[in-house]
Amino acid sequence: MKRKHRFLATRWLISQLFVIAGIAILVVLSAIRYAPGIFETIVAMSQDGYIAKAIWNTCRELVKDVVFNPVLYLMVLAILVLELWMPANKKQKVFSPGFGQDFIWFIGDFFLKALLLIPFVMLLRGLHSQFLSQFSINLPSLLHLPKLVTLTLAILITDFGAWLAHVLQHKIPFLWRFHAIHHSQCEMNLFTDARFHFGDALIGYPLQIFPLYWLLIPLPQGIYYIFFRTWYPRLYHANLRTNFGFLRYVLVTPQSHRIHHSIEVRHFDKNFGIVFSIWDYIFGTQHRDFHEYPDTGIHDQNFPTENGLSFWCLPKNYVSQLLYPFRLSRD
Ligand SMILES: [Zn+2]
Ligand SMILES: [Zn+2]
Repeated sequence: MKRKHRFLATRWLISQLFVIAGIAILVVLSAIRYAPGIFETIVAMSQDGYIAKAIWNTCRELVKDVVFNPVLYLMVLAILVLELWMPANKKQKVFSPGFGQDFIWFIGDFFLKALLLIPFVMLLRGLHSQFLSQFSINLPSLLHLPKLVTLTLAILITDFGAWLAHVLQHKIPFLWRFHAIHHSQCEMNLFTDARFHFGDALIGYPLQIFPLYWLLIPLPQGIYYIFFRTWYPRLYHANLRTNFGFLRYVLVTPQSHRIHHSIEVRHFDKNFGIVFSIWDYIFGTQHRDFHEYPDTGIHDQNFPTENGLSFWCLPKNYVSQLLYPFRLSRD
């Protein structure tokens, strides 16, 4: 029986790989046919040693942004102290296998960004300039918008795009297979924010980027990206017992996001917000009990969980988790 199952699993993996290879070939062929500029850019990038450069730059970034980054140490320390002071789950250790596994996702994220996500954003930009730029509306100059209003609009548009993408990641089974990895964490911690499969970007990036391209609004940068898009999700993924009082009506909180990660069926498909909770109030997906702190995780018994593993096994397990979306479904 086991052997039969292994055979089925292998067959499933092969068929998934064929589907992905087929899609990749279609994308490449259509890029050659319809957008030679983009294709030439990508070929030039690879001939120019893009992969080697990306890996080298990522290693440099890791040294600068992780090893010698006092802000990272201070913020991590502050969040860990908060976790000791007011934990949502008192039984969870601060340095659990879940924490170790998510830290590996955090480091892996630097490489995946450089090797896959930056070329993907370039491809989206190329596709936009090739096919969609003629439909663009210069909203800031059309409405004579001041810079601050343009920035606010950019923040709201990207946040709504991220919210919508998140809803689709839950509703479309193909996308859920990637997103389930983020939800598999039973020991929520500040690095769970990095536990995202690159497949999540398939829908997440276009829905955040295309509206800004279409309205010719620059991407929000500066303090918003450094604090709200980088540190804020780390804070609300931590093992913290707080609902931020009245701020919960505007912002996602550790309590509301824990409901989103809940293993209980009655909490499913609630609290999709990324930074702002306003979209969940508007579209009726906000869970209105602000004092519940449920257990988290997913129901798939075959997920390669890190629970019970030693720290030495975590890098190998990271690879198993990366491959999880392509494995046989036994739900
Ligand atoms: Zn989710
Ligand atoms: Zn989350």
